[in-house]
Amino acid sequence: MGALTDPFGRRIEYLRISVVDRCNLGCFYCQPGGQCKHRRAAKPLTRSQLLQVAGTAAELGIRKIRLTGGEPLVRKDIVEIVRGLAGLPGIEDLSLTTNGTHLAALAQPLKEAGLRRVNISLDSLDADNFARITAGGDLQATLDGISAALQAGLQPLKINMVVMKGINDREIPAFAELTRTEEIHVRFIEYMPMRGQDETWRKYYLPSGEIMRRLAAGGELVPAPEEDMNGPAVNYRYRGATGILGLITPVSRHFCAACNRLRLTNDGKLRPCLFADKEVDLLPALLAGKDLRPLFAAAVIQKPSHDVSPAARGASCGPRGMAEIGG
Ligand code: SAM
Repeated sequence: MGALTDPFGRRIEYLRISVVDRCNLGCFYCQPGGQCKHRRAAKPLTRSQLLQVAGTAAELGIRKIRLTGGEPLVRKDIVEIVRGLAGLPGIEDLSLTTNGTHLAALAQPLKEAGLRRVNISLDSLDADNFARITAGGDLQATLDGISAALQAGLQPLKINMVVMKGINDREIPAFAELTRTEEIHVRFIEYMPMRGQDETWRKYYLPSGEIMRRLAAGGELVPAPEEDMNGPAVNYRYRGATGILGLITPVSRHFCAACNRLRLTNDGKLRPCLFADKEVDLLPALLAGKDLRPLFAAAVIQKPSHDVSPAARGASCGPRGMAEIGG
């Protein structure tokens, strides 16, 4: 079996793996209004099962793997998982999305195990606001994690800020300023509804056009090439600045047409699309020692085209929330 190509001609080269559904923070946007009730998977995949799935994915042409969750760094064997994945032939890019709170201790061991880079979720530079958004999180822990990641050479380091009107949008300029002298990417992500959520999400939604307007007030923006082919961000930099400003627009300008991803949930389901509830269960085949390749093919064939209706869009909240699917 050769490379994975979906019915719309998209070559699938990216696997996003949720290694755990638990998180040590409780971000407002991830579980808005408590609608996405946190559900622990009966049993997350073991390390050896994860590596088996990833090994098959690599054989089938997956080149990029991103680990996420939940919070991937709360998984005790995360360094060993990274080491195992880094050793798979064909994997060219291994990265991880984290809230950064455990990175101060783990950045160096993860780098040594073969992790290339990290995306760090950070939605406020104000300690009180950070604590409000994350349900009690400690801003300093994430800032220490960012320093440790830079020191360990986990680069390019990307900071992801979910922009929420009335909650953290006044901090857009402060986040943008970070790119003047630091070699980091700051990506502004449109707040997106969780599926099943009522219309209250609109209260917090700030479209990318407005984010751009506020960024432009800080200086001349010049387009910056997207180094990450098929990556969702549209990039700029302030003229003369060291770092990059990115916009990620799941609501106003969705990027499904270029989607090259599959997702693996922490309990072993392959998801063709974040926005659709289709899943292919790998666990029975894993337990029976069967070939996983036909199941990858079955997932890829179910990838919807880019024209998912706006009404259906929104990360699925039922039956699974972001923490389980992997944000
Ligand atoms: N715990 C890790 C972290 O904080 O980065 C990884 C999982 S978390 C679900 C990953 C990211 O998903 C969040 O930081 C955010 O960027 C994105 N996300 C989750 N819910 C979102 C929403 N409603 N709108 C926009 N982005 C969201």
